[in-house]
Amino acid sequence: MNNPGYCVRCNRYTRSKQLYAVLVSGRKEFVQETLGRIKEICGRRDAKGLIGLVMTLRKDQKDSNTATRITVDERVCPECDGVAIVGRMYRRDEKKKWAELSALAFGFTDRAAEADGRDPARA
Ligand SMILES: [Zn+2]
Repeated sequence: MNNPGYCVRCNRYTRSKQLYAVLVSGRKEFVQETLGRIKEICGRRDAKGLIGLVMTLRKDQKDSNTATRITVDERVCPECDGVAIVGRMYRRDEKKKWAELSALAFGFTDRAAEADGRDPARA
């Protein structure tokens, strides 16, 4: 994965516009299903869809016994207004400490940011 916090087209670091955080509670199956949906949305580079999913999850998040947390950083390039998404996943261990699951990090830049074909993912 390329660094989605960076706009390759403009050679600029993107700025954080809004940070979304959601607790994913419940059964393992539900967490797996959520991960699958995130993966699918990232494949489409659909920033609106991803934030929509987070908002939906937020509506029915339950605090108790939640062991998974997802954060989505919506970032914007100050030069071209391209949107970049930086997503992270955390899991709470037995000591009630949150630890990042770096293997499950996700993110992408929107199509505008690769319009000139310099997306390093395809270079
Ligand atoms: Zn840019």
